[in-house]
Amino acid sequence: MIITDRNNITTDELIRLALEAGFTSAGTLDMSSLVFREEVRAMCAADKCRSYGRSWSCPPAVGTLESISARAAGFARGIIVQTTGSMSSDFDYGSIQDTGTRHKHNFDTLVRQVRMLFAGCLPMGAGACTVCAKCSYPDRPCRHPNKMFPSMEAYGLLISDVCSSSGLRYNYGPQTMTFTSCILID
Ligand code: SF4
Repeated sequence: MIITDRNNITTDELIRLALEAGFTSAGTLDMSSLVFREEVRAMCAADKCRSYGRSWSCPPAVGTLESISARAAGFARGIIVQTTGSMSSDFDYGSIQDTGTRHKHNFDTLVRQVRMLFAGCLPMGAGACTVCAKCSYPDRPCRHPNKMFPSMEAYGLLISDVCSSSGLRYNYGPQTMTFTSCILID
């Protein structure tokens, strides 16, 4: 897709850009659904994904709920994007991993493009940052602050709520897996 007017790019054009990047679904983000919740942070603290306190992209390094709420309040619009994959069974971990990898690749591509249009945009991905084989947290500063982005969960968002408020499904049915991310713009 060729962007002809960087200053007046519409949300629909950004959604088209996202679909061209490979996402299976994309839509307008309902900004009122951005409620940053302590209970989601508590799930991070349970450390089931083994990333809590081990990455600049995860709590507690990503800052307080108050700081992210204040930052998000400075944005007027955004888009939400999803990658859905099929699984041969509920235990098809290979397909889950493949879909996650595809989603990360799609989102990296989209963030790179959107940052060229809106340098100050705020991307929120899915899962911990995997740019480096081993995160430098906490001993050294992040090696790639312009490449990394925290996840929606790390910021305390309940993804199912954000999806349904934004007109997208959270779950696309049995034996599917969906990864969701968003970008705040303007
Ligand atoms: S870019 Fe590297 S150092 Fe920075 S958060 Fe990601 S993994 Fe950690």
